[in-house]
Amino acid sequence: MTSPTRTVIHSATVITADAADRVLADASIVIEGEVIVELHEGGRPDPLAGEVSIDAAGGIVMPGLIDAHSHLPMTLYRGLADDRDLQSFLGRLLPLEAATLDEEAVAIGARLAMAEMLRAGATTALDMYWYPKTTAAVAVEAGLRLATGPLFIGGTGPDHRSFTERTETFATSGPHAWTMIHGTYTMTVDELRTAGELARQAGTRIHLHASENEAEVDQVVGATGLRPIALLDQVGLLGPDVVLAHAVVLTDDEVDLLGRTGTRIAHCPLSNLKLASGICRVSDLLAAGATVGLGTDGPSSSNDLDMFAAMRFAGLVAKVAQHDASALSAHEVLKMATIGGARALGMDQMTGSIEVGKAADLLRLDPSSPSLAPSFDAVSSVVYAASRADVVDVWVAGRRVVADRVALTVDVESAIADVRRLAATFR
Ligand SMILES: [Zn+2]
Repeated sequence: MTSPTRTVIHSATVITADAADRVLADASIVIEGEVIVELHEGGRPDPLAGEVSIDAAGGIVMPGLIDAHSHLPMTLYRGLADDRDLQSFLGRLLPLEAATLDEEAVAIGARLAMAEMLRAGATTALDMYWYPKTTAAVAVEAGLRLATGPLFIGGTGPDHRSFTERTETFATSGPHAWTMIHGTYTMTVDELRTAGELARQAGTRIHLHASENEAEVDQVVGATGLRPIALLDQVGLLGPDVVLAHAVVLTDDEVDLLGRTGTRIAHCPLSNLKLASGICRVSDLLAAGATVGLGTDGPSSSNDLDMFAAMRFAGLVAKVAQHDASALSAHEVLKMATIGGARALGMDQMTGSIEVGKAADLLRLDPSSPSLAPSFDAVSSVVYAASRADVVDVWVAGRRVVADRVALTVDVESAIADVRRLAATFR
């Protein structure tokens, strides 16, 4: 039996995102197979024959970023419905999806998304979209860690299937790790309850949109008499196995309820700002005990898959919303984008931090980037000064997926050409 490939990244400033929030100087990370097997501070282990050695030259190595809410194949519709609010955005998008989506289109959109994500240092995504098995297959090729599952919505979806058909095939199309339930404004109370019961019977985790803006809250109150969070509580869709995307419009009682029930939150500041939805009360949610991850909301509503931008905006909008420059520190933001996201997805035993025994999901930043010098606090450098263009190398489960800024697992040129060809047919 051959020993697994051994990679040693040495001379690095390692942001661990571990429980003690350690940043290690002159550190080495030893990867064997899929796993981090050694972590050293102040020097490197003696080189072994056959190992791959990467000199980080003092630069930052950190956990791969976790996009806790995405719609990856929507690269297809990037920039098609800008400068409008959520309801107007959906009014343009939903008919176009119905007219253009099939498995091939989803594969094409997903492939470009994964090239973009991996090059930007995102190693895991929680993705809600149509034809999830197709996206999952593309993720296996690309080497992205993907959490996804069948999607429920009211009426007939762009995949031309009815709600009833989805319920009838749910059990036989599994096993599923996740169930996607679109949200309170696209489904009836009965549909929400039915989808939730199917998910719980199958033991899956659940992901849905909730309380994204005031208009959604008004619509749900008008239809059901309840605000979205209260409605989800009534139909059994809150809890530690549930990730809510957005949760922007919240009362104090709703913040407390989300904290008390251990419901996970995917904060998507870029999408919330661009759609003028509002600003998620992240500091209040964290204080209430909620677990908060960070998401992009995909390339259609926020136009790119840039978790570095998501981090910086998360920090900045929290400060201005509270008129408090100390609100949501760089360290809190970085944790949301790494171990917080992993916790939100129930994957923190496996990923989200650089620790011995965890999967080698990590990225290396360019030590010669002008914007990263000097660096008094590596975490501040990452959140407030780094960009995705500074990412040079990325590993997912020990597999090097980006080397010297080149994606190794996706043919980026053909992925771009395929998306352009398809997008040219959209009306
Ligand atoms: Zn979304």
